[in-house]
Amino acid sequence: MLIDSHCHLDDFAASGELDAVLERAREAGVEAMITVGTSLSDWETYARITAAHPGFVHWTAGLHPTEVDEGWKDHVDTLASWFATSPAPVGIGEVGLDYFHLPKDAKKAAPIVARQKDAFAAQLEIAYQLDCPLVVHSRNAFADTVAMIDKSGVNWKKVVYHCFSEGPEEIRALNERGGRGSFTGVVTYKNGLRNLEAAVAQGLELLMLETDCPWLTPEPFRGKRNEPALIVHTAQKLALAMGIPFESLCETSTRNAREFFQNLTTCAHAGT
Ligand SMILES: [Zn+2]
Ligand SMILES: [Zn+2]
Repeated sequence: MLIDSHCHLDDFAASGELDAVLERAREAGVEAMITVGTSLSDWETYARITAAHPGFVHWTAGLHPTEVDEGWKDHVDTLASWFATSPAPVGIGEVGLDYFHLPKDAKKAAPIVARQKDAFAAQLEIAYQLDCPLVVHSRNAFADTVAMIDKSGVNWKKVVYHCFSEGPEEIRALNERGGRGSFTGVVTYKNGLRNLEAAVAQGLELLMLETDCPWLTPEPFRGKRNEPALIVHTAQKLALAMGIPFESLCETSTRNAREFFQNLTTCAHAGT
């Protein structure tokens, strides 16, 4: 059995395909999944989906860096209150910094970076207060996200860099602090070797898997839409790379994800 520790189910819900997608996940051996929030609009959707599929679907709430605009405070101001609702999120995320999508003109990029940092700092403060698992999105911004987490006082043991997209040195920097990365279908790509090396360097005892669907479809389905059922291909590739039986990898990565997300219980107590 596997856990998809990071997916986005909103498109499937909007197109009426969610039930079929969840059924295929079950058939593929996925025992639970976490649908990860990116802004107020999907938080509402994910709370609803989680309520409809107790124990199978879980959710997190957070304002994604590319969703940070002038109105970011309106989202972040309500964030803590979601932890007092039912079903409450199992963590905060995804939050962080994304320098990949910035305008090339440095003058135009600067205020966007400043805003992303403000929103990330505000959400780190909430994560610190609630002492919740934290799902970090970091793209071309590794040093800055690490520095901001260091400064925030957040417990690194509760930090996961989702879709870890750096190499062995950077994963060591996270692991030394007590943090970890989780891995997507990128490890199955021909050009994903550095990413695969990072997963192997981190090792089995911290491993967590994710699809980040509907994006990052693993081989041999790259080019098609991704969904939780396809996490099996990422697990197979990593078992091969780590030289361990597929079953052991499934068992340990599933246990790791459960432990990291506090047995997939909500953080409701934290919000009260
Ligand atoms: Zn992300
Ligand atoms: Zn994501």
